[in-house]
Amino acid sequence: MAVPFTCTDCGRCCVSLGRSITIERRVTGRHYDCREAVRRETFRAEVGDEHRGMVPSSAGCPFLVRPSPGQSICACHATRPRLCREYRCASMRLFDRDGTERGHLGGRRSLLTEDPELRALWDDGEGEEESAWRERIESTFSGAGYRVEWYD
Ligand code: SF4
Ligand code: SF4
Repeated sequence: MAVPFTCTDCGRCCVSLGRSITIERRVTGRHYDCREAVRRETFRAEVGDEHRGMVPSSAGCPFLVRPSPGQSICACHATRPRLCREYRCASMRLFDRDGTERGHLGGRRSLLTEDPELRALWDDGEGEEESAWRERIESTFSGAGYRVEWYD
């Protein structure tokens, strides 16, 4: 059964997709007029009080802050553009017995994982009808002890 997608705030897409965001003008000490090049939209970003003075990461979006390795913060989260609000990095995630994410599907049928066991089990079912393929691949992964989570 599909569940709503949840963003884990890992910040990976802020490094890649975030490159499409540029600041065009500083309006006040915390407001910026910005352009987002994928959807060709403009937006006004407001930096949250708690993030003022934070130094943006040198990679990706100008609002991405990395206070420590592995931690990512969007300094304008409440006013982030539509691209960021609607982006889904995964249509499915795979978790091991401990609940640790081991891989995910990017796009419709591209497995992204560093787990060799998952890689060996993978079959993109080229040409196979979607629901039959999902059922089959879920059964394969479940049988090997992984939990499969599909997203709407
Ligand atoms: S959409 Fe995905 S890649 Fe982007 S921050 Fe959320 S979990 Fe990470
Ligand atoms: S605006 Fe926020 S959510 Fe969007 S790419 Fe930048 S840091 Fe990430």
